[in-house]
Amino acid sequence: MISRRKFLAVGSLAGASVLSGNKSFGKTMDDSVLTGSPIVISTWDFGIAANAAAWQILKNNGRALDAVETGVHVPEADLNNQSVGYGGLPDRDGRVTLDACIMDEFGNCGSVAALEHIIHPISVARRVMEKTPHVMLVGAGALQFALEQGFKKKNLLTPSSEKAWKEWLKTAKYNPEINVENRLFSPAKLPGNQYNHDTIGMLALDASGNMSGACTTSGMAYKMHGRVGDSPIIGAGLYVDNEIGGATSTGVGEEVIRNVGSFLVVELMRQGYSPDEACKEAVMRIIRKKPETAKQIQVGFLALNKKGQFGGYAIQKGFSFAVCDNNDQKQLIKSPSYY
Ligand code: ASP
Repeated sequence: MISRRKFLAVGSLAGASVLSGNKSFGKTMDDSVLTGSPIVISTWDFGIAANAAAWQILKNNGRALDAVETGVHVPEADLNNQSVGYGGLPDRDGRVTLDACIMDEFGNCGSVAALEHIIHPISVARRVMEKTPHVMLVGAGALQFALEQGFKKKNLLTPSSEKAWKEWLKTAKYNPEINVENRLFSPAKLPGNQYNHDTIGMLALDASGNMSGACTTSGMAYKMHGRVGDSPIIGAGLYVDNEIGGATSTGVGEEVIRNVGSFLVVELMRQGYSPDEACKEAVMRIIRKKPETAKQIQVGFLALNKKGQFGGYAIQKGFSFAVCDNNDQKQLIKSPSYY
């Protein structure tokens, strides 16, 4: 009989370490699998700080659901982060509208879309999941529910995001560019050059072997008022199946929704794909369906399976993700990409 150690080593060889060509990537995967220890992964460079908050819960044998909620609070509350929560870039009418969803190990899920004035949309999404018979609340209804639940109203439009919006109004061109936030702002203005990216999607596996995920964003900068992206859509921006694993996405949400991206990644893992193979195949679906569109946009997927193996893949260069486990609390990985 093939040993667990051997099986896992083979599994990871077929997975991220070979496809990414990144040695430490493969090593970390093996280690987390062999120790059975918790792990949390999340999108973009700002995932490092978010993972650190989630890790405080995971390392104390806390629940993955609490870890992902606490983890994504970090970018949500960070007013220097112009793509998530407080300080997020507004829509074309100057309104900051937030999208978020959360999913637990039992397949329960909650979501809010186009929510205004609340710093932590992920926590409102969790309340939708836990306190209502519904999955999704939007706009004014989501705000009404949040206020009933005791969340406080706040102006989320910071002076720097308002300034950026007024600058944008001069041409008012909406064109979802590749890694759009990179071009809209001078990174030099942002602390550490690390807060100029998109959605945070986070997946965590806890010490009990249970998985949860969270996804939260202010969405595409200068979108039409009322536009909802992939991030609060269960199956598009986030999907978790505690038997198989989870996936999350970032980038142009319309293409992720059209392909039900995160659900697709999880279903591919169910068929035996490793996390990075599954992310790659989901990206390839988007490219095959609309090759001309795909040249112009960014979409990235991130996945974690129940063995603790992880992987990511993007259309364009520039997508990164953060990994935190017992072996390395601050690992940042450059995702492989099609272009
Ligand atoms: N996926 C998000 C949206 O479409 C934005 C992003 O991740 O850049 O709203």
